[in-house]
Amino acid sequence: MQRYYSIGTPGEPWTDTEKAAWFERCKIQRSYKDEVIRKLDRLGAPFQVETYGALGIDPQRYPLFAVQCEAPVCGQPWALVTGGIHGYETSGVQGALAFLETVAPSYADRVNLLVVPCVSPWGYEVIHRWNPSAIDPNRSFVPDSPAEESAALIGLVQALSGDSAEFLVHIDLHETTDSDEQEFRPALAARDGKPFEPGHVPDGFYTVGDTENPQPDFQAAIIAGVQQVTHIAPADAKGQIIGSDVTQTGVINYPLRELGLCAGVTGARFTTTTEVYPDSADVTPEICNQAQIAAVRAGLDHALRHAG
Ligand SMILES: [Zn+2]
Repeated sequence: MQRYYSIGTPGEPWTDTEKAAWFERCKIQRSYKDEVIRKLDRLGAPFQVETYGALGIDPQRYPLFAVQCEAPVCGQPWALVTGGIHGYETSGVQGALAFLETVAPSYADRVNLLVVPCVSPWGYEVIHRWNPSAIDPNRSFVPDSPAEESAALIGLVQALSGDSAEFLVHIDLHETTDSDEQEFRPALAARDGKPFEPGHVPDGFYTVGDTENPQPDFQAAIIAGVQQVTHIAPADAKGQIIGSDVTQTGVINYPLRELGLCAGVTGARFTTTTEVYPDSADVTPEICNQAQIAAVRAGLDHALRHAG
């Protein structure tokens, strides 16, 4: 494997020059309008689609969309489902859309759903992890966020919370891909002027809970739900998945808020990050979407059983 990324000087963090060179290399490879907006246009009752911002790089091309119940029920708990914080992680976006098209209406009388299917639409089109400024939105859920994708979602959640919405559960949909190891981790090391340490991409689904609030039964319920659809990632020889200790089958924990992760945005009692593995020989894009739906269903069902 190549030890050094093709942009920058080993050991030296990128300046604006290297970031601009990286940006120039990003090319649009798929259409947000065709693959996301057209599907949102087809959604009807009980949901309504609203914009909560637009990306500065091209506001016409990249409006930001949130889907919520037309008539949120006062006193009913709220659930947030987010996809595409990492735009390249396709089943996060398409899984959220498929959830809306299929099983989401059956939850509308029990929970006020807020679904944000594609937090980072430029990343969706160029198939990248970062935003146009070479910032990872999923390390940027912090006050005065440097990533406008994260800042917009924080603003949306805060506005609803100000209107007394109380989030019971948040499920943030992601993938762990072979390209993480081939492209994105080497790019991250180069950007920050650090050596690239090769890692291991786990073969199967796993979740990331919150070190500060791990909710092991909630994570276990999600693993049990997804297991009906696809295989769960085994621990490696060290008992870990991507460098973190496996706390139970298919589950690791991160300190969500300390790391500025999206799954910390609501402060909900039940939070998780799903990690689908799309490069397995045993899965298809459809299975990946179904795995995301299974995770959302199992997570919502568990949270609603234990609400109150
Ligand atoms: Zn991700």
